[in-house]
Amino acid sequence: MTHQEVLEKIPLYVAGELSQADRAEMELHLKNCESCRREIEEFRKMENMLEQLRLPDPPDELWEGYWSGIYNRMERKTGWILFSVGAIVLLFFGFFRMVEEMLSDPAVPPLIKWGTLCIGGGLAILLVSVLREQLFLRKNERYREVRR
Ligand SMILES: [Zn+2]
Repeated sequence: MTHQEVLEKIPLYVAGELSQADRAEMELHLKNCESCRREIEEFRKMENMLEQLRLPDPPDELWEGYWSGIYNRMERKTGWILFSVGAIVLLFFGFFRMVEEMLSDPAVPPLIKWGTLCIGGGLAILLVSVLREQLFLRKNERYREVRR
């Protein structure tokens, strides 16, 4: 297996989805290739981080109800995306207004300003994410009651 091939197969390798032969070949390469070993380490680290950031997914049957509505899939998806982007922009703008004075104060170090902006952005995204989940779950519960 070439260096390039190994690099391409890292995600499969880490997920344990390589065939036994591929896996053996890859491990042989890894033994002699420091850079690929480091690449795998980086990949694992990144995956762990993403794992921690992800909100827990509602069970599958909930999503089925979610998608089988009056609107088709794409419309809904687009709607949610527009809603999210809009809400994030508004929330962030509100937050920006709140801290505007502090941001324009030359006595405050730039690092603190950036940190504050990051917190604002992060909060906006989290809020929208939770809000979206709540909206969806509540709607779904109502739908279930109607069906009963
Ligand atoms: Zn390599």
